[in-house]
Amino acid sequence: MTSTLRDTLSAPTGDGPPELTHWIGGAARAGVSGRFGDVTDPATGAVSARVPFASDDEVADAVAAAKTAFPGWRDTSLSARTQILFRFRELLNARAPELAALITAEHGKVASDAAGEVARGQEVVEFACGMPHLLKGSATENASTGVDVHSVRQPLGPVAVIGPFNFPAMVPMWFFPIAIAAGNTVVLKPSEKVPSAALWIAELWREAGLPEGVFTVLNGDKVAVDGLLSHPDIKSVSFVGSTPVARHIYETGTAHGKRVQALGGAKNHMVVLPDADLDLAADQAVNAGFGSAGERCMSISALVAVGGCADVLVDKIAQRARGLRTGDGRRGCDMGPLITDAARARVTGYVDAGESEGASVVVDGRTGEFDADGEGFFVGPTLLDHVGTGMSVYTDEIFGPVLSVVRVDSYDEAVELVNANPYGNGTAIFTNDGGAARRFQNEVEVGMVGVNVPVPVPMAYYSFGGWKNSLFGDTHAHGTEGVGFFTRGKVVTTRWLDPSHGGLDLGFPQNS
Ligand code: NAD
Repeated sequence: MTSTLRDTLSAPTGDGPPELTHWIGGAARAGVSGRFGDVTDPATGAVSARVPFASDDEVADAVAAAKTAFPGWRDTSLSARTQILFRFRELLNARAPELAALITAEHGKVASDAAGEVARGQEVVEFACGMPHLLKGSATENASTGVDVHSVRQPLGPVAVIGPFNFPAMVPMWFFPIAIAAGNTVVLKPSEKVPSAALWIAELWREAGLPEGVFTVLNGDKVAVDGLLSHPDIKSVSFVGSTPVARHIYETGTAHGKRVQALGGAKNHMVVLPDADLDLAADQAVNAGFGSAGERCMSISALVAVGGCADVLVDKIAQRARGLRTGDGRRGCDMGPLITDAARARVTGYVDAGESEGASVVVDGRTGEFDADGEGFFVGPTLLDHVGTGMSVYTDEIFGPVLSVVRVDSYDEAVELVNANPYGNGTAIFTNDGGAARRFQNEVEVGMVGVNVPVPVPMAYYSFGGWKNSLFGDTHAHGTEGVGFFTRGKVVTTRWLDPSHGGLDLGFPQNS
């Protein structure tokens, strides 16, 4: 299935790995900068393709295509626009397994996880299918005598979306269905580590009947990103990635007068109170700590065990973690590889550092049997206990399958610890005490909160986003905040003149 995309898009490269393209003006376009990156199958370590890195000229071409397409798309009726969205949805439903397989091949996440990612992205397409309702303005008759007022929301123009490696399809889909349905044109710069999902999606848009230039894929690295950030025709930037880059995107994009929403990194805490169902908590800690090999911005990486529950909980988690099968995501394993060999080395380095700083390594994923061929980038599930808040394994976002248990004496100490963390993406509390849960959701300084739900990713009709260093900008992704981000408001005040309105009056208009 992967070969369908490659056959269609690859430029001839002799015996080397296939060469991917950009998608500009409704068609695949070979890269001409002469700069490329390797795309790797993380389960085997093999280079599966080369992705072109755009030059400044290619950035200009991509934006020009989006700019040219904008007036026609903006003026296409809402009914016609949403019919294309519905067709896109139907095609995606029919062909979701192809996209999931592409994700597994380049990201490494296991097949069920890749299918889940596609399904969560599809929810945003479905939300965007309701754009006629979401774009409705308001109207007031006779606001002043003979004067009516109404409001509308209009698209911005060409907008940029810049994605991370860990959700090749879902994260771009947080943005582009809404942007497109609202009448904007989109330039998507996917992560250079996982470019094929975006190209596959571009083909699907074409099949759905989207006019050329409305959806563009520009492959590349920092050159492409910085080119988009400073391009005068790009009206907004939606970014998802690590915190240092998110900060750079926000500062540079806003300095160039653009709207920016820049979602950054995370350090998510799961607080377990002593009254919680410890079997449920252990199951969910394993799912949320090790799902997608910990490469989710909503992964749980710090488990805060309150009071006397820590020993039992750590035992239960360890038992479950030892039973997980790590390997090639196409083989029915529970957990796949990390994205690169550098990521693998970084994660094991953190475990080494935690151990030398005094944490106990209860389950050690640095070595083990992995169900895969070749030289994949594997780290098994790793459980650290007695982690201190000064250790790098606690302070830094590790982005790997490492769950750190921090022991505290009280609920207050747990909340203080979560609130003192510079990140504020997601958090969860596990308890059977409704009063404690209610206090937690009120007091915790984090954007997305779960009560006995470890990965509280909001539905598409709510908005996704963290607080503090997990998001720069005012607007969260999708839901009505997403619609607001991709449109700007206009208020129209109308009076149809009749002969009684004659006469001069230079005073400030007042209502009468
Ligand atoms: P990254 O910041 O390395 O890359 C993200 C994007 O930025 C890529 O498209 C990349 O090409 C580009 N980029 C990288 N360095 C750049 C630079 N110096 N200048 C300009 N552009 C640059 O992130 P990643 O490793 O791909 O993704 C993992 C990170 O994303 C983690 O920190 C994770 O927490 C975060 N993330 C956050 C959310 C969220 O919703 N908050 C969701 C998913 C991932």
